[in-house]
Amino acid sequence: MDPPQIYVERTLALIKPDAIDKAEEIEDIILRSGFTILQKRKVHLTPEQASDFYAEHYGKMFFPSLVGYMSSGPIVAMVLARDKCIGYWRDLIGPTNTYKARETHPDSLRAIYGTDDQRNAVHGSDSYSSSEREVRFMFPDSVIEPIPAGQAARD
Ligand code: ADP
Ligand code: MG
Repeated sequence: MDPPQIYVERTLALIKPDAIDKAEEIEDIILRSGFTILQKRKVHLTPEQASDFYAEHYGKMFFPSLVGYMSSGPIVAMVLARDKCIGYWRDLIGPTNTYKARETHPDSLRAIYGTDDQRNAVHGSDSYSSSEREVRFMFPDSVIEPIPAGQAARD
C-alpha cells in the first residue's frame, strides 16, 4: 500500500540585497518560526532577471529603481514549507513599506531589517500561483514537484 500523500504548502522567500549581511540572523528567525527551509541558494540577479521576476510591476513608476535595487548585489532565495506557509510568511515579513511596517508591525522582519520604502529586506510570494511561479523562477532545476491541490492528503 502506498503511504498517504500529505501536501505541505510552500512559498518563495528572498533576502534582498539590503539585508544580505543579516541573512544568518533572518534564517534563524525563519527556523524558529516553524518553517522548514527546503532549498536555498545565493544568487546575484542580472537586471534582466530582476525585470522578469517583477514583471507584474512593469510600467510602474518605481519599476526601474526596483530592478536596480534587486540587481545591486547578491540575494538569498529559499523555498520555505509549513502549514499555511504563504500567509504565515507574509505575516512575518510585514507591510511592503518599511516605514509603515515600523509603525504598525514593529516585530515584522521588514520593520526590523528594512531600509526605506523600497529596500524592505525580504520578499514573500503573495498567492499559491505566484509561489509556484517564483519557486520555479529561482529553482528551475528543482526536483521537488508540487502535488496538485486536488490530490492533497488523500487517505
Ligand atoms: P510586496 O513585496 O509586499 O509583495 P509589491 O509586490 O507591491 O510588494 O512590490 C514589490 C516590491 O517593489 C516591494 O517589495 C518593494 O521593494 C517595491 N515597491 C513596491 N511599491 C513601491 C513604491 N511605492 N515605491 C518604491 N518601491 C516600491
Ligand atoms: Mg508582491
